[in-house]
Amino acid sequence: MSDEQPPPSGDDLLAPAGYDLVDVRYIEVNGSYAGHGLLRTHGRRECSGPNCPIHNPSEHPLADAPLLWREDGGFMERLCPHGVGHPDVDRLAHTMRTQGESATRRIARHACDGCCL
Ligand SMILES: [Zn+2]
Ligand SMILES: [Zn+2]
Ligand SMILES: [Zn+2]
Repeated sequence: MSDEQPPPSGDDLLAPAGYDLVDVRYIEVNGSYAGHGLLRTHGRRECSGPNCPIHNPSEHPLADAPLLWREDGGFMERLCPHGVGHPDVDRLAHTMRTQGESATRRIARHACDGCCL
């Protein structure tokens, strides 16, 4: 097994070069939970910083928790075992780099049950 194996050709049809398809749970624009779906994200080589929720999570309490894509807000959360969505810290770092502190504070606000601390 080597990392140099080309991906199965089916992947090329689903994900054009430069993109990855990630299995996420997602919340629709209207705020309702829509179950699993495939989200088209930036490719592995296009991460915007040292850590990325999808390709290279930092060490945080919810690094292994399922991803929850908030279509209503356009950001990524982690779903803790109790069904609470917590903004992904690597995503917050990205927002801080690109949009600054007030935008970060806006998406960081959530009803926390303590799992992301
Ligand atoms: Zn990435
Ligand atoms: Zn929890
Ligand atoms: Zn939290």
